[in-house]
Amino acid sequence: MLEKVVIANRGEIALRILRACRELGIKTVAVHSTADADLMHVRLADESVCIGPASATESYLNIPAIISAAEITDAVGIHPGYGFLAENADFAEQVEKSGFTFIGPSADVINLMGDKVSAIAAMKKAGVPCVPGSDGPLGDNEKDNLAMGKRIGYPVIIKAAGGGGGRGMRVVHKEEELLKAISLTKSEAGSVFGNDMVYMEKFLETPRHVEIQVLADGHGNAIHLGERDCSMQRRHQKVVEEAPAPGITDQMRKHIGERCVQACKQLGYRGAGTFEFLYEKGEFYFIEMNTRVQVEHPVSELISGVDIIKEQLRIASNQPLSFKQEDIQLKGHAIECRINAEDPDTFIPSPGVIKRFHAPGGPGIRIDSHIYASYKVPPYYDSMIGKLITYGETREVAIQRMQMALEEIVIDGIKTNIPLQKRILADANFQKGGTNIHYLERQMFAETD
Ligand code: ADP
Repeated sequence: MLEKVVIANRGEIALRILRACRELGIKTVAVHSTADADLMHVRLADESVCIGPASATESYLNIPAIISAAEITDAVGIHPGYGFLAENADFAEQVEKSGFTFIGPSADVINLMGDKVSAIAAMKKAGVPCVPGSDGPLGDNEKDNLAMGKRIGYPVIIKAAGGGGGRGMRVVHKEEELLKAISLTKSEAGSVFGNDMVYMEKFLETPRHVEIQVLADGHGNAIHLGERDCSMQRRHQKVVEEAPAPGITDQMRKHIGERCVQACKQLGYRGAGTFEFLYEKGEFYFIEMNTRVQVEHPVSELISGVDIIKEQLRIASNQPLSFKQEDIQLKGHAIECRINAEDPDTFIPSPGVIKRFHAPGGPGIRIDSHIYASYKVPPYYDSMIGKLITYGETREVAIQRMQMALEEIVIDGIKTNIPLQKRILADANFQKGGTNIHYLERQMFAETD
């Protein structure tokens, strides 16, 4: 087992990684910015190193500073968490070249999946279903591009190969708009992502977001932990997630899960990963792979009994997977509500001091959060301050427990999105299950406007 690990992240995920390390007897090094000295995991870690000023560019994204921290503390592994450097192939490569273990897949695989055109090509080869599209970059020939649009059928979406975070995409409804949309997306992608390659896909109008969690050990073993539904989104940011996805049958899960496992084997994938799909009219369409742990991993943990972070650490320690596919029995239902320090109506971030904090409890309640009474939420980073996760034998029980937990939780001093989460949980269509990715913005917000 790795002896000492640098946690190259902050907030709730840093604390989550610290707890997993503790369980496995791994020593921990917290690296933090000057604004984050009072983070909970910094207090709990065996050692801590300040790696730079508040600005993430100079701290959590500062590769030399993070590697130096590993060097001076004699750490052997680096866990990137999510966000920041988690999907930066250059970071993974430099970590390995400096003699440390990167807790994640190889830099080559991160690169391959980071480029959406090469990712789609790899998926098609592995038999993973993709959105009908150009199957490669668009060239400059206008006639060819118009013919492509006609073949795929409008509406289509033009996407940047190097895009991310919901940026670098443009929906085209009519043929007349196509060429302009291609050139606009191309020039935008060139300046924002430094790569002007774009491709075309059929635009699905009312899909759900359903994703498959995988684990692979790099020794040829790979498993999936079923799916999560993350359709409740605002501006492409997930707000509520759940597992399993309403309406997905065992047979469908097995079919798509096996395709993803097969893809992991073909890629020589190592670590935890997620295959993201749009799901419409009973069909799955691959959109991208995330080569890291995700914010919403706890819902899969609760229904599978697998600790995904501990598996990441075991895999990085060169151990084979602790489970075979037939050992994985999904049971019950789990829901996660992201708790953000923001105004529930305007979504404007609300940093500041948490004056009072009371955590909900009882059967089936889990909180992954670094906050405590008197903690000051800094204004420099993502506004997510924690996740409330509930489990129940059925979806109804998980919803009921979430509603109770949202009533019980007290976070005073700053604004949070808890009122919005209460509205979602009480919404009749959410309770029915299976709403699409536009539901929150188009229906729920429209009601109050
Ligand atoms: P990013 O890497 O920026 O997150 P994705 O490829 O994951 O980009 O797409 C982000 C979101 O854009 C999806 O969750 C979906 O809402 C929308 N989207 C992407 N491709 C399509 C498509 N072909 N049809 C409909 N919506 C799409």
